[in-house]
Amino acid sequence: MLKIKEIGAKGYEKVIVGKDSAAGLHAVIAVHNTVLGPGLGGIRMQPYRSEKEALADALRLSKAMTYKAAISHLAIGGGKAVVIGNPQKPKSKKMLLALGDMIESLGGRYLAAEDVGFYCKDLDVIAQRTKHLTGASPSMGGSGDCSPSTSKGIIVGIQTAVQERFKTVNLTGIRIAIQGIGKVGWPLLEFFHSLHAEIFVSDIDPEKCREAQKRFGVKIILPPQIHKIEAEVFSPCALGGGLNPKTIPGLGAKIVAGGANNQFLDEKKGPSALMKREILHAPDFVINAGGIIHLFVKEILKKEDLTPWLLKIGGTLREIFRLSRLEGTAPLPIAVRLAEERIRRKQSS
Ligand code: NAD
Repeated sequence: MLKIKEIGAKGYEKVIVGKDSAAGLHAVIAVHNTVLGPGLGGIRMQPYRSEKEALADALRLSKAMTYKAAISHLAIGGGKAVVIGNPQKPKSKKMLLALGDMIESLGGRYLAAEDVGFYCKDLDVIAQRTKHLTGASPSMGGSGDCSPSTSKGIIVGIQTAVQERFKTVNLTGIRIAIQGIGKVGWPLLEFFHSLHAEIFVSDIDPEKCREAQKRFGVKIILPPQIHKIEAEVFSPCALGGGLNPKTIPGLGAKIVAGGANNQFLDEKKGPSALMKREILHAPDFVINAGGIIHLFVKEILKKEDLTPWLLKIGGTLREIFRLSRLEGTAPLPIAVRLAEERIRRKQSS
């Protein structure tokens, strides 16, 4: 039987832990902020070592979703679900249905979507128990996988960062190191291959690396070395925390611009450490907003054309880079400030 326990977390509207031993479910859902609208965010599955570790990830990720929606001018808030488990193993229907009940228990305050380890087909099963989700298959009335839109937004962001750092809009022949070639990283690989870029790739999944090498002739780099590659762009598209005191001193690129959420292990010290090294960082929750834009525009606004929304990512980044130059402050704290200002304005209106 599903048991749901509420946990108090300062600064968060609602955090619940759900357990159903018979169904094999152990999950946390964090709703950070719903001032702008219901807390939308993907479901992540990882082999977390403890509930504490899962909770910490849910809190960090749901807050980033609030900022992502606010900075992208979307009428939604931030939430996230994390499920403790091995994403490589097939998920049982019982587990997915129990998760659906857990999402339903929040009454629409949290809108689910896919994230690392979760796919459209999983959402299709969850949809049997709750309507509070986005990104189910088109045959089920959803807008499908939003990852290609995330990748498109990242491409806009990389173009903007290259223009800021190198004063050119030409990406042809650029050197790019991509960490993680999953749903977000793979379309980047395809795009940069079409521009005759020099591409370096790492993934912990050897099968994906073999496929990338076979199809695109990319250079495969061992995962612990990818950040060191001398390139114009390092694009983290795996998990968070990749920018940390161990990796920052060895970064080989002039720009960090990728899809991973919460890229800095230490969001206080990390951004300025990167800035001191004259490495331009495109804040993660700005550049990777394409997926949430896709879900919002297609499923909440019921519109088709994402292009103007995705292009706005470029405008937002330009403004952040301008303020960063003007104030001598790293881009991430500026992006946080702009997002928080937007929420405060809405709260006081
Ligand atoms: P995914 O699971 O499809 O792909 C992640 C890839 O990274 C996998 O191929 C995995 O094997 C690889 N990986 C894991 N650890 C690695 C490591 N240490 N070194 C190299 N590779 C590693 O996930 P995704 O949907 O592509 O998401 C990637 C990142 O982008 C995540 O941080 C996710 O939260 C973020 N994100 C995704 C979306 C989306 O639309 N899918 C939207 C916004 C943000």
